[in-house]
Amino acid sequence: MKKFDHPWKNNFIERSNNITIPYDGWNYSINFDSKYFSTIDNKRRKKSYQYQSEPKDLNLELLELENKNKATSLCLESVNHSQIAIIGCGPVGMAASLWLKKAYPKKEITIYETRVDLKSNKIKPFSRRWLTYVKLDLLEPILNLEDVSLIKRIGLYNCIGIDIRNLEYALLRAINKQEISICQMNNKIPKPEILLDASGGRFMQYNQSKIIGKKSLNIISPKNKNNFGQIECSSNILNQFEIVDFGNIIKPFYNGYPLQVPFLKINYLPPNLKDEFIYFSNILNNDYGVYYWNGVMRDDLNHSLLFLSLFQDEFLGIDDLIDFPIRLDQAWDNNLFREKASRRLSIIFEWILTKLGKDRLCYIEPLFLWQPFLCLRKDRYISGDIEYLNIGDSHYIGNPKTGNGLANHLYELKDIFSGMF
Ligand SMILES: Cc1cc2nc3c(=O)[nH]c(=O)nc-3n(C[C@H](O)[C@H](O)[C@H](O)COP(=O)(O)OP(=O)(O)OC[C@H]3O[C@@H](n4cnc5c(N)ncnc54)[C@H](O)[C@@H]3O)c2cc1C
Repeated sequence: MKKFDHPWKNNFIERSNNITIPYDGWNYSINFDSKYFSTIDNKRRKKSYQYQSEPKDLNLELLELENKNKATSLCLESVNHSQIAIIGCGPVGMAASLWLKKAYPKKEITIYETRVDLKSNKIKPFSRRWLTYVKLDLLEPILNLEDVSLIKRIGLYNCIGIDIRNLEYALLRAINKQEISICQMNNKIPKPEILLDASGGRFMQYNQSKIIGKKSLNIISPKNKNNFGQIECSSNILNQFEIVDFGNIIKPFYNGYPLQVPFLKINYLPPNLKDEFIYFSNILNNDYGVYYWNGVMRDDLNHSLLFLSLFQDEFLGIDDLIDFPIRLDQAWDNNLFREKASRRLSIIFEWILTKLGKDRLCYIEPLFLWQPFLCLRKDRYISGDIEYLNIGDSHYIGNPKTGNGLANHLYELKDIFSGMF
């Protein structure tokens, strides 16, 4: 069998043995979110992160960026041959394609994506508006110069600052410039030399019926309370943890169930509420899992994101009422929503609404369940002899509250590929 013999591939495989980063996310949730562990069935209605209208007035550089986004081609191509196939046109798949294009300018690289609009023959517009904490130097070598200079004017502390959607559009502009093809995912991928799975863990189905092994989890408890005054949980709870190895995928388990934390996100909050919110919510909730995250953008462009860990009943109460981002004030006007929201959530929502001026809006996003896994990389082949490598969220799902996903995935790409030039 002919191997795709390049040192970067082995480098990815070797790094996968170091599971410190995903483990940090599991450990964090065990220390701070153990009250919220749930066993909710994953079969929920499909949710959308598409805002129904622009969530806030855009000014200066953000407006410039949005105009660029609108002008960015989302067109698909049909491809008959490619040497490198990348599954998934998310931030990690796109960044990988650009690093690979730098390494192999002559190779044909194609991204395959399922999120397409067949009528217009385009990929669907990017819609997730989550804040990021990504250093610009991780992407600077692969983005278009004009985007880099615009992003530099927006971000602080050498971070890109912009949300994941703006980042995806910027990556797409670089892809269009480098003439990397994007085509609709179907069952007929022309046989590549190597396939990179950047589908966020949705391309491969892993059999989880047979347990190959179990390990107990070595928990590191924090010595002090964290900055938000959250208290660590009792060691009895921690003893119920184990890591279950299903062969290709390993997962942390709690009390016989896969570790799972339900979250609620409120987006576009004003950054200057942060201190007051933490003070208010700590008095109210003490060790409950609240996390107020200010973006890393210039003050006049910035906004914040609130992560709330939810109890299972809180999640089940309102999950069906939020199918796409909705304004908190409008959600709160709905009697059913007010009835279904727990007492704790009601107090938090009302506090936020009182603090927001009339012209300031914030948005509740569809709830989500964080259920981490890690797919170790091995020398693997699919369809007989195509080499397979998983990257990004297909490798592991980071903890959104510790932010140990996207930035680390992009760091890994840069660290491995930039060594080639
Ligand atoms: C609910 C939620 C909230 C999050 N919040 C934040 C946040 O606030 N800030 C932050 O920095 N990070 C956040 N993250 C993490 C961040 O979104 C991920 O780390 C990042 O998107 C991973 O990028 P990726 O390219 O690996 O995968 P994805 O972004 O998931 O991209 C995968 C792509 O593959 C496509 N695809 C899926 N299946 C197939 C298939 N079979 N064939 C072809 N294409 C396929 C998808 O349509 C998608 O375009 C969050 C994650 C989740 C799930």
